Amino acid sequence: MIEVDAGGVVEFTQALVRVPSTNDPARGRSEQPAADLVAAKMREWGWEPRVYEAAPGRPNVVAVVEGGGGDGPTLMFEGHTDVVTEGDLSSWTVDPFGGEIRDGRLWGRGSADMKSGLAAALYATRALQLAGPFPGRIKVCALADEEGLMIGAHHFVAEGLAAGVDGAIVAEPEAGEICAVAKGALRLRVDFTGKMAHGAMPRHGRNPVQAVGSLLAALPALESELQELHPAHEHLGEVYVTPTVVRAGSEEQVNVIPAVASVFVDVRTVPGVGHQDIADRVAALAAFDGIAAEVAILVDRPPVEVPVDDPVVAALAAAHRAVTGAEPVYGGVPGSTDGTVLTHWGGVPSVVYGPGGKWIAHQADEYVEVAEIVQCTRVFAEAARRFLTREPS
Ligand SMILES: [Zn+2]
Repeated sequence: MIEVDAGGVVEFTQALVRVPSTNDPARGRSEQPAADLVAAKMREWGWEPRVYEAAPGRPNVVAVVEGGGGDGPTLMFEGHTDVVTEGDLSSWTVDPFGGEIRDGRLWGRGSADMKSGLAAALYATRALQLAGPFPGRIKVCALADEEGLMIGAHHFVAEGLAAGVDGAIVAEPEAGEICAVAKGALRLRVDFTGKMAHGAMPRHGRNPVQAVGSLLAALPALESELQELHPAHEHLGEVYVTPTVVRAGSEEQVNVIPAVASVFVDVRTVPGVGHQDIADRVAALAAFDGIAAEVAILVDRPPVEVPVDDPVVAALAAAHRAVTGAEPVYGGVPGSTDGTVLTHWGGVPSVVYGPGGKWIAHQADEYVEVAEIVQCTRVFAEAARRFLTREPS
């Protein structure tokens, strides 16, 4: 088994957790300090990281580690440097940016999602490098803004940096599950335009609130139809069509028919569901006599399905088996990750696997088991070795 620096990877996770890298310009926060730590660690090891600004103050850090062992594939390790906000401090029993270790757990915002995974990716690559030459190369990438619009991953692909990458391991917390499938997410905004009028003279206006009601009433049937057409996926569950925001009128003007109204819809999809088709269906359902309706696609992240026999998934599964002694468990990502962008827009097969529980992310008292960080580092190093040497699994 490849020797990893167990103390180092845990300490580096602590250091990363101690910088509050939420994207919060109002509080002067961004991914910058976490990206700086990553770049400094890479330089300490003699790597030559390149920094790309996905947006001002929001860097992507990318280092290519050549194996020096001849021709071979390119493996990518991906982690994001941003974390979601700590939220209400009163629900925390530890300092969210303390990086404290207690009861075998490392506590704090981002400990699971996903500073431990990012640290594991760095230390695994370093471990493989110290173990001797290997074929091909590893691209270690710490990207910005996964929790937002994924501008880091989109910028990475737009810069052409995904070209030539043969497989990517995305280090999100998945409780040790190997997730080669991810649910799709589609967010729609439907804007209705009618005509404003006094409530006493409704015939002088055209009421978009009625159109809102009609659309809301029609959405459950669309959801049922999609669920019937696309049965529940074994790792991703069902298709959901959920209205989440309704905007119309004002409480101060109960006697006024508003001119405009909007409905926002959150759609979650499984492989095989076409996002444009759903947008078109919603547009058709939004049609209402005398009211103009327009559908805008706010977020479009298609579902991802990488076959389990893809080399990157197979290498990871074999590494998991070799390191943990347990059979790999396959799962799905309930949301989307940077892997969605890498696979759909970058054409890179991706698989998601990392330390930390699936459900602990974004909660108060977020933590990761220290032993899991070290184990994951070993699995990553072994997966990289197998992938790059094309060892049959
Ligand atoms: Zn994450």
